[in-house]
Amino acid sequence: MTDRIKQFLARTRDDGPRLVVDLEVVRDNYLAFAKALPDTRVFYAVKANPAPEILDLLARLGSCFDAASVAEIEQTLAAGASPDRISYGNTIKKERDIARAHALGVRLFAVDSDAEVDKIARVAPGSKVFCRILCDGAGAEWPLSRKFGCTPELAVSVLERAHRLGLVAHGLSFHVGSQQPNPRAWEGALKASAAVFKELAERGIQLSMLNLGGGFPTRYLKPVPGVRAYGQTIFRALRKHFGNRIPETIIEPGRGMVGNAGIIEAEVVLISRKSEEDPRRWVYLDIGKFNGLAETMDEMIRYPIRTDYDDDVMSPCVVAGPTCDSVDVLYEKEPYMLPVSLEIGAKVLIEGTGAYTTTYASVGFNGFPPLKSYVI
Ligand SMILES: *Cc1c(COP(=O)(O)O)cnc(C)c1O
Repeated sequence: MTDRIKQFLARTRDDGPRLVVDLEVVRDNYLAFAKALPDTRVFYAVKANPAPEILDLLARLGSCFDAASVAEIEQTLAAGASPDRISYGNTIKKERDIARAHALGVRLFAVDSDAEVDKIARVAPGSKVFCRILCDGAGAEWPLSRKFGCTPELAVSVLERAHRLGLVAHGLSFHVGSQQPNPRAWEGALKASAAVFKELAERGIQLSMLNLGGGFPTRYLKPVPGVRAYGQTIFRALRKHFGNRIPETIIEPGRGMVGNAGIIEAEVVLISRKSEEDPRRWVYLDIGKFNGLAETMDEMIRYPIRTDYDDDVMSPCVVAGPTCDSVDVLYEKEPYMLPVSLEIGAKVLIEGTGAYTTTYASVGFNGFPPLKSYVI
């Protein structure tokens, strides 16, 4: 936790839970990405955390933005980014939203199918499109596999169709899965991408851009490699597959940009047992799957939970949220070790929660409000 967050929490009281994001960490992360991949433009994935202060800061630092909807495009424009710095990166868009984005000045769109190309050709003529290819997300803690992308073979024909319809067949994209702890995970997709570039070149279409997606991890319980290691490994793989004809590259970090910048302060509401013999305590917090911690789904993301008693004896606990839905259990299959001295009413700190928390909170399930957020 940064000193600024520590001081903010000490200075203010709140009937939480609340997320506090330190902009200095976001700034450091942006600069680290820019340094680790010096020839690559950064498109921040807005969905990770669209707080206006974060978008303002990144716009000032020169970042570009990956938006998934017209609302995200408008938020990004409001932060001062010009439309030529925005990519409409969702492969699933209503035709009228494509038209709105086009009217707002956006000229860069993701596709992974003929039908999406046709929509763009109709309402955003002349725009640049990049085709997303499938990537299995192997090794990622939050894989994004089947839903997005098409096979490299299909990408060739999708981009050929775009070219024929008067669009600019601009490039390819892929996403190696979110929270990807292995820098070598980019290798396979880069190899497949190079083959698509080659095949299209033989058909007279020169692609010029390669979108390396997100996937850069943030630290939860286990250490992860730093962005420098990602930069070096990805650059080596680019050299290997594209030789001295490396295309323009972009990255779309979300989690890696804001994850470690945020901390949630939450409170223990209840500690109980299911029977007198059951060794496991149930620890119910005032935050759960419906008001900020959706990524604990299937126990995929395991957040560090810090308490004031972490030097004490620990014992296994089931950790659950406050709502009346029985899926609102965060960690049960693999119980979470928490101090035996933890008491009802104690505050806990949940680290690495700057990404995918506020945006994943429900509007008011059971009357619990969306997660409060303070950006400092
Ligand atoms: C969600 C998303 C990202 C961000 O992914 P992270 O793993 O958070 O970095 C980037 N690009 C696209 C297209 C996405 O959908």
